[in-house]
Amino acid sequence: MKIIRTLPSMTAWSERLRREGVTIGFVPTMGALHDGHRSLIRAARLQCDALVVSIFVNPTQFSPTEDLAKYPRPIAKDRSLCRAEGVDVCFEPTAQAMYPEGFQTVVTVPAITKLWEGASRPHHFGGVAVVVTKLFGMVRPHVALFGQKDYQQAALVRQLVQDLNLGVKIQIRPTVREQDGLAMSSRNVYLNTDERMIAPWLSRALRAGKQAIEGGMKDGAAIERSMRKTIEQAPAIQVEYLALCDPDSLEPLTRFTRRAVILGAIRIGSIRLIDNLLVNVPGGKNRAR
Ligand code: AMP
Repeated sequence: MKIIRTLPSMTAWSERLRREGVTIGFVPTMGALHDGHRSLIRAARLQCDALVVSIFVNPTQFSPTEDLAKYPRPIAKDRSLCRAEGVDVCFEPTAQAMYPEGFQTVVTVPAITKLWEGASRPHHFGGVAVVVTKLFGMVRPHVALFGQKDYQQAALVRQLVQDLNLGVKIQIRPTVREQDGLAMSSRNVYLNTDERMIAPWLSRALRAGKQAIEGGMKDGAAIERSMRKTIEQAPAIQVEYLALCDPDSLEPLTRFTRRAVILGAIRIGSIRLIDNLLVNVPGGKNRAR
């Protein structure tokens, strides 16, 4: 496995392979790799000739009060996971190279990022949009894989690629979970034993919402109440949002007659967790709030 740290060498490697007709797959990450990342890497490996994984803790998607400095960076472990999964290139650019003095471009995808994570973390999606655009420019992949775990991010990337004609096929892969339902996340290492015990209540609440919809409940407010009631059984959880939304626009829905996504974010102490579930309801059309 090759480790590439400079931007021009990354682009040169990709350009050479593209000229040879090689299909390049790409999995962008912030490292601290777990089985969720592994599932993206494996899916990419199966469908591409060459595979690039980037490991870059992108400073511009953290606000000054967030966890940039303490974000886990187990680089040796990450590299060995990549090696074991047959990754061809681990791309590890530096923040200095990515954002040299004078960098000024902003990339905004306003409607999709207005609500939910965008409302809670106003800096976040601007940083994501810029870094994804830059990484695509350097890695020049044919296909890039993202996790459903970060549903709003995946929606942003799809929109970005479509609007800016970036020419990359985007694939969204299902969320990988721990046995008790907790969505895997690099941030789960912050949870102490007690917090880890209650963390799966977020996925339980989402499942309660999904079951209510599949059981025929159509009233969005009632479904949200039933999810909140489920999560209230867990002590020490603060709900930021539990919302039934249109899966494409992410606008809130009051009635569910077709497809919906249930988005959730909670806080346990200082730790923030997000998760989501897609729900299919046969027949009819969605109506936005
Ligand atoms: P991150 O390192 O957190 O920026 O995530 C890199 C990629 O892995 C993103 O596309 C995430 O959505 C995806 N990802 C993170 N956690 C999971 C998970 N539990 N299951 C599937 N994909 C995930």
